[in-house]
Amino acid sequence: MRYSILLTFALAALAEVPPPESVLGHKPGDDFYLATYDDALGYFRKLAASSNRIKLAQVGKTTQGRDWYIAFISSPENLAQFDHYKDVSRRLAVARGISEAQARALARETKPIIHIDGGLHATEVANAQHTIQLGYDLVTREDEETKAVRDNLITELWFSINPDGQNIVANWYRQNLGTPFEVSPLPVLYQEYVGHDNNRDGYMLNMIESQVITRATLDTQPLVFYTHHQSAPFPGRIYLPPFADPISGNMHPLMLRWLSLIGTSIAQYLDQHGMSGSMHEETFDVWYPGYIDNIGNFRHTISFFTETALYHYATPHFYTVDEFPQTRQDMRAEMFYSSPWRGGWWRLSDACRYMHSASMAVLDMAAKYREQMVYNKYLAARDTIAYFEKEPPFAYVIPREQHDAPTAAVLVEKLMLQGIEVHQSAKPDAWVILMNQPFSGMVKELFEVQNYPELRQRPYDVTGWTLPMQMGIEVHAMTTPLTPEFRAGLERISSVKGLAAPFSRSANASFRAVNEILAGRGTVSFAGDEIGVSNFDKTKLESILAANRLRAVTAAQTGKPVRAARLGLYRPWVASMDEGWTRWIFEQFAFPFTSLYNADIIAGHLRESYDVIVITDAQPRAIMEGHRPGTIPARYAGGISEQGADELRQFVNAGGTLIAFNNASLFAIEQFKLPVENALAGLRPDQFFCSGCLLTVHVEDPKNSLVAGLSSDPVVMFERGPAFDTKSDFKGAVLARYPRERSPLASGYLLHPERIQGKAAALDVNYGKGRVILLGFRPQWRGQSHGTYKFFFNALYLQ
Ligand SMILES: [Zn+2]
Repeated sequence: MRYSILLTFALAALAEVPPPESVLGHKPGDDFYLATYDDALGYFRKLAASSNRIKLAQVGKTTQGRDWYIAFISSPENLAQFDHYKDVSRRLAVARGISEAQARALARETKPIIHIDGGLHATEVANAQHTIQLGYDLVTREDEETKAVRDNLITELWFSINPDGQNIVANWYRQNLGTPFEVSPLPVLYQEYVGHDNNRDGYMLNMIESQVITRATLDTQPLVFYTHHQSAPFPGRIYLPPFADPISGNMHPLMLRWLSLIGTSIAQYLDQHGMSGSMHEETFDVWYPGYIDNIGNFRHTISFFTETALYHYATPHFYTVDEFPQTRQDMRAEMFYSSPWRGGWWRLSDACRYMHSASMAVLDMAAKYREQMVYNKYLAARDTIAYFEKEPPFAYVIPREQHDAPTAAVLVEKLMLQGIEVHQSAKPDAWVILMNQPFSGMVKELFEVQNYPELRQRPYDVTGWTLPMQMGIEVHAMTTPLTPEFRAGLERISSVKGLAAPFSRSANASFRAVNEILAGRGTVSFAGDEIGVSNFDKTKLESILAANRLRAVTAAQTGKPVRAARLGLYRPWVASMDEGWTRWIFEQFAFPFTSLYNADIIAGHLRESYDVIVITDAQPRAIMEGHRPGTIPARYAGGISEQGADELRQFVNAGGTLIAFNNASLFAIEQFKLPVENALAGLRPDQFFCSGCLLTVHVEDPKNSLVAGLSSDPVVMFERGPAFDTKSDFKGAVLARYPRERSPLASGYLLHPERIQGKAAALDVNYGKGRVILLGFRPQWRGQSHGTYKFFFNALYLQ
């Protein structure tokens, strides 16, 4: 009896698949309404409970600990064979042991997996709203197009790839709705640490979200990876591939061909359905590989993003043509803007409609061309392996004994997370990346020096990122074919084992160990690069060192004991990614610290509680003035103001240390009237241009404790920062300088290097009883430039 009641209930539920509005109380995209991630998940649970065409899977947890689910949508027959189709995807992705004929046969029979997601830039709100309706429609629609999508494909639908952010933004909007602050900017980062930079972590995988996405992507090996964004170049309504030049030279051309085909096919689909304003080939280039929606191309997943127009949140807006740029007011059709948008209302529902159609266009195309696309994925992998069988580099060798070996191990682990095969060689004792593997284009992209082509348009992101340089890691490219003996001595590894580098200040990991020992009340002393430990349990010490891949080298206490500085990190309400990255690094390296908000700085008495205060990259005006009053709820308005600047001067005067990163240096120079000038001030882009490239600096006095452990010529990430000239009354030390006799360019694009040659890159400036440390570059850029962390790590101890 009981069973039959349950059965009846189940059948009734199957018959009634709930539309989103019946669960949420709103249709996704309604004016003034945003669903949180929790709302979306609640809806998808009901959807999955009512249909056998959808399965939910937990992929992991988010940074804030939220359960993270995605949906697979297809026919019940395909979902029943899901493991088989996943297996085929993975086999074709690596191309090994599969003949061309077999590949063609597999391509014919398989049901490829298509990743579509609701984005990771949480203030671009339509991204994660449209996926709710898309999920419902893919499950329930019975038209020929949708049926073909279900029958031929498995849609991997991530309703959001930043669940934390979706909640943060929806709650912020709800709280301000109907007040003068309805469209106010969000005063916090919508990804706990990195906000908008969450889409620039694609190869480095520092954030949990990036790791979860990559792990899941390696598991399903999707054919397409499509991420939605909302920053279309105005007045375009949606920005689509083909993207602007320059593009990476290490991508298989078939990826770029399909990108262009998909982009123009979305535009065609939109015009066919009466949606004008598709735009291509402007603003966004494909040079920096760090985007989570780009990096997959190196694994031969056709990976791309689109940018739909956005006003603010779920608030509608009316546009008139006179708001358009002059050049676009005449509505002239262009090759890559064939159906100009004519202005009028733009609502969240419009953005959702464009996105929904764009997602359907991608699925429609993949359903029609799946066989060819799958076969091309195989071809791209096969070609890559074959190419590096014949062409250099044949391998990259990373010695296990080097200046900062634990950081080299971090690099190796990053590669393994990306699905790159790593071998251990016994002689020499090194990690080896053989290049005749399917995704090795990614390795070359990350390891080689970037030669940016002649400047035609402003680069969208940085121009150079060579990872071994940024991380301060020695890597050798093998440019002659590998001998059979060398290959015979290699063993494939799946983790880094047995590394124990000297416990000295040359290893970044040593700073973590030092902080852990200090937290455990041990005595630590520094003498040059050497580190001594006393008054600490031997077993505990060994376990800390082992966990940090270190071994003790100095038996007794050699130098002066050190204490952890009481550290404050300035946290502005103009949400700062650079602050977030720094906060994350402090946590990763176990530096205890306190976040200092404007009110804390203005309240003063800083010296009583802090020894060191760090201000990360920001323009002086943003630090001083913050958000303009009236544009945001009062508690988030304003900056540190004149009073806060005065409190900081008193703090340093009384013996405190202020560390300023990149453009925050200009704040310190101005407000402290330091005897220092920015040598690059006022230069036009044709007189000096470097929007993000790697430059070599020379460490001036290796005996200075502030530069202990650094290599003698580290490479810094220079991104629109200053370079310093010291005036005659300067007192302090030049910590590092750009070379005088040659261009400092190590990787990327630098126009007029002579303007920066010989200038100081890092200064220790005396001020009262304290000091101001100016770092005219990005010492911890996106958690990548491990090679320059010591420029501020060393200053976080008192001796
Ligand atoms: Zn975006």
